[in-house]
Amino acid sequence: MKKFLFIFLILMNTASLYALSFGPDQILQCPVDGNIHKVRTIRSYNTLGGQYWTDGFATFPMAPSFPHITKCGKCGTYLWREEFTIIGEMPFSHEDEGNLPIAWQEAEYIRFLTLDEYFEAIEKGKADTDERELYIRIKIWWAINDQIRNRIGEYTVNPILGNDVYVQNLLRVIKLLENDSSPESFLRRAEAYRELGRFGAATRMLNRDFDRGYLRAVREIKKLIWKKDTIVRRLFLD
Ligand SMILES: [Zn+2]
Repeated sequence: MKKFLFIFLILMNTASLYALSFGPDQILQCPVDGNIHKVRTIRSYNTLGGQYWTDGFATFPMAPSFPHITKCGKCGTYLWREEFTIIGEMPFSHEDEGNLPIAWQEAEYIRFLTLDEYFEAIEKGKADTDERELYIRIKIWWAINDQIRNRIGEYTVNPILGNDVYVQNLLRVIKLLENDSSPESFLRRAEAYRELGRFGAATRMLNRDFDRGYLRAVREIKKLIWKKDTIVRRLFLD
């Protein structure tokens, strides 16, 4: 599951010419109350027009992403995608949909959690492995930064610094990444330290050899550290 976190760096230079196309929707059943949900599948995608951010968040108009954890719309149980039972898939032709059970036809797509729900999912024990905890805590980090992304000119200091719960979340992200010595892990920890205003620690994360593909991101984050900037920023703005 870790792959999704850092996929933006891998994809950066490999934007393909494939068009975005969807496969059949998968039908999922909640293991608690049997409620039916659906989820899109992707056949092909490309990363053209991607927007990349210093915290690793990225958006791709032609490569939508889907939630790994969600909440059953009926019983409210938090569920990892793999905890659902896959019971089938929607036919490609809309004409065939009339023969399907009503519950399939009316099924809602699984959705991303909100900031508060991610915290609640942790309280309910869904962060039961380091990998799952890291996924949720990075989602929390991104959801907090989402509040800044569109209003970036309004901030001179990272607003999370006044919120101990948010700071603790980011420190936990750093801790969870400590056993990972991949370049992405060092970049991510550098960014987390930078956003916390711990510029010395941030610099130490970047004082090592990086492969060429990472150098531009490393340079841009270093520049922000020198400026003592703590705000999430867009990457690769020429
Ligand atoms: Zn349910």
